[in-house]
Amino acid sequence: MTYSSSPAFAAEMDAADALASFRAEFHIPPGPDGQPCAYFCGNSLGLLPKAARAAVEQEFADWERLGVEGHFHGTSPWMHYHETLTGATARLVGAKPIEVVVMNNLTVNLHLLLITFYRPTATRYKILMEGGAFPSDQYALESQARLHGLHPDDAIVELVPRPGEHTLRTEDIEAKIAELGDSLATILLGGVNYYTGQAFDMAAITRAGHAVGALVGFDLAHAAGNLHLELHGWDVDFACWCSYKYLNSGPGGTSGVYIHERFAQRPDLLRLAGWWGHDLSDRFQMKKGFRPMAGAAGWQLSNAQIFPMAIHRVSIAMVDRAGGMTALRRKSEQLTGYLEYLIEQLGLPRTRLEIITPADPAQRGCQLSLLVHERGRELFDFLAARGIIADWREPNVIRLAPVPLYNTFEDVRRAGEALRTFTMSNEQ
Ligand SMILES: *Cc1c(COP(=O)(O)O)cnc(C)c1O
Repeated sequence: MTYSSSPAFAAEMDAADALASFRAEFHIPPGPDGQPCAYFCGNSLGLLPKAARAAVEQEFADWERLGVEGHFHGTSPWMHYHETLTGATARLVGAKPIEVVVMNNLTVNLHLLLITFYRPTATRYKILMEGGAFPSDQYALESQARLHGLHPDDAIVELVPRPGEHTLRTEDIEAKIAELGDSLATILLGGVNYYTGQAFDMAAITRAGHAVGALVGFDLAHAAGNLHLELHGWDVDFACWCSYKYLNSGPGGTSGVYIHERFAQRPDLLRLAGWWGHDLSDRFQMKKGFRPMAGAAGWQLSNAQIFPMAIHRVSIAMVDRAGGMTALRRKSEQLTGYLEYLIEQLGLPRTRLEIITPADPAQRGCQLSLLVHERGRELFDFLAARGIIADWREPNVIRLAPVPLYNTFEDVRRAGEALRTFTMSNEQ
């Protein structure tokens, strides 16, 4: 692909974009000048699909009209509401329907999965994660270690980049797994690291983990709706993700869970149980003695959160309508490649600004993380004043995530131009 910083090039790319019509299905927040902003925060909170409001209104209407009968006679009966998400969720992450369920929130699900899939013994008790993982994941693992009477510093092993590097090498991850060997109980990595934007080779990591007898799971908060995923094909044991980042399902939106089919018929697996995970055939007889449903559904605790799920149903259906992750990824790689090109065109020395996200498209999603060594906060504010909405991570990283469903090449060109204006004004 040959890029150009000209407005004509961006216009041409947008005109040729097969996914261009999806932008009109979102509310794009206005920038300071009242015009639509260039929104690059889909990695933090995706935008509102216009159809979400009617979907939520429908549930209000059913509740208003039917009260408790909405469970059975609603437009989409609440008792089975979560099941309407299963097909699209399975397609989204490359899983079988029995392997997925939508429930709760991300960190809650992380805990529920670790209860089952982190079962330390006297000799096999280590859990491997990325150094500098998202804090919630760090806290979840610390507390899981303590739950088993272990000290986090002993139980948790963190992967860190080589000196002078910002991201992890797959061969180093594999070597660490092999080194831990029989002591390694569980691996829990992000699919995409929230800070650097690095996408991990989940197939290779899963293989390496299984080779030493460890269980392998991924937090896909920054990967779901961003990367093409093949969780079943990669033989991943478990995973969870949130729906409010690349899946545009609203602040605090519901979460997805994947558990490999080999655990589907394992009622013996320890878990924290609730009535919604109980076998449907006699769930409502309200008897003693938990018997889980087959598959990921058997990890459910509570009856479905209809309102967040109503939004999620709209959002996840958009992924299918867009042609799935293969189609989204095609545009995503071009958009991010364009942003990378425009930043490289600035010709700044690495001592001033560097992209810490891997340059290889296979090792990243849509996000680029810029490590800004000088006047980073000022640059961030400069962008915001021009309606370029990025996000800021202490101490000096600006994350920009152009997403294929609603960002345009013109958005990216605007960002590139603002960056150029700032760096030139800095030189005087
Ligand atoms: C966004 C994110 C979270 C947030 O967790 P919630 O339970 O949804 O608040 C957790 N972990 C990772 C890796 C994230 O990126």
